[in-house]
Amino acid sequence: MTRTVYVDNAATTAMSDAAIAAMLPYFKETYGNPSSLHTVGQVAKEALDGARARIAALVGAKPNEIYFTSGGSEADNQAIRAAAYNGLAKGKKHIISTAFEHHAVLHTLKKLEKEGFEVTYLDVHSHGNITSEEVAAAIRPDTALVTVMYANNEVGSVLPIRRIGEVCRQRKVTFHTDAVQAVGHIPVNVVDDNIDMMSVSAHKFHGPKGVGFLYCRSGVPLKSLIEGGAQERKRRAGTENIAGICGMAAALAEAIGNMQANMAKERALRDKLIAGLSAIPHSRLNGDGKNRLPANVNMCFEGIEGESLLLLLDAKGICASSGSACTSGSLDPSHVLLALGLPHEVAHGSLRLSLSEYNTEEEIDYIIAEVPKIVEYLRNISPVWEALEKGERPHLI
Ligand SMILES: *Cc1c(COP(=O)(O)O)cnc(C)c1O
Repeated sequence: MTRTVYVDNAATTAMSDAAIAAMLPYFKETYGNPSSLHTVGQVAKEALDGARARIAALVGAKPNEIYFTSGGSEADNQAIRAAAYNGLAKGKKHIISTAFEHHAVLHTLKKLEKEGFEVTYLDVHSHGNITSEEVAAAIRPDTALVTVMYANNEVGSVLPIRRIGEVCRQRKVTFHTDAVQAVGHIPVNVVDDNIDMMSVSAHKFHGPKGVGFLYCRSGVPLKSLIEGGAQERKRRAGTENIAGICGMAAALAEAIGNMQANMAKERALRDKLIAGLSAIPHSRLNGDGKNRLPANVNMCFEGIEGESLLLLLDAKGICASSGSACTSGSLDPSHVLLALGLPHEVAHGSLRLSLSEYNTEEEIDYIIAEVPKIVEYLRNISPVWEALEKGERPHLI
């Protein structure tokens, strides 16, 4: 039986034992609805309040600034629509974002463009980052919202959120950040970072899937996307996912409690992996070499298809991602790698390895041993590589 080496933690993570243990009481013992007035309901309400207070404290927020959602996508949708419509009520129809946001942000913005909003997508340059000065220069009198991710899920760039938040605060523009890849992984504090709205998802830090939260600073208006009951102070209808919320609180407490040690471990593994894979000829590291998530590796290998690489890696038990999305039968390279200015043919040969503190050095050594063999095999059967080797077309990396 082949072993499993899971290095796709930017897609989702294994749950931690602490998170699972924190959820179990809420399936059969404390199964009440927090809106019920009886004891069973009120015990659930206490658990909900406790988790809210715990989570708020972990990101520097107040409990009444936390709105539980079904995850990062819902939080992104709600934050962006709420801020956009709030701006519209004041005659503001301009939004600033970046070209490499998650689709939960980009697709919401595309919809808003159809509704008459104008969106500026800031260029993320070849290194995959922006500056607060670029945000400042894009702000107009009719700017309703700046939405910029804290850290990119594909290439791992960590953006200058604190400075961007400062600019937005000065210019009185609402600032939302998709912090799904940051919270639980690198230090985040909504007050110090000048954040008005922030999206978070539990399953990216060893919590359960299907639960997350939106931080919305008190005083920043928040519209509900879902009609129904009065849950979440009338901002998000639907019976609360108590087990998921308690699992998320436990996972976040654990992730933040162990953050320094986890970051040090991941950085060491990441740097070893980058050094090992960079020895492959005609390869390149994508993303910001300096401001990078401790657990992210994203490489391109010229002359191969990322999908073939993934399948062969999977046969060796290595679970990774290419960053490309298969849309309607045609393989499109990742919008993130294209936003970095990579040519299509290079972006196609991408490999994302996203680590977690559960990975071991022995696993990294295994990856460093296997990837070059597979790349060489694929290049040997690739007509593109043959043309490159014969000098019929120029090497791009
Ligand atoms: C995973 C992810 C999301 C979506 O979160 P879900 O909880 O899966 O909906 C949004 N933004 C980023 C940056 C992500 O990595």
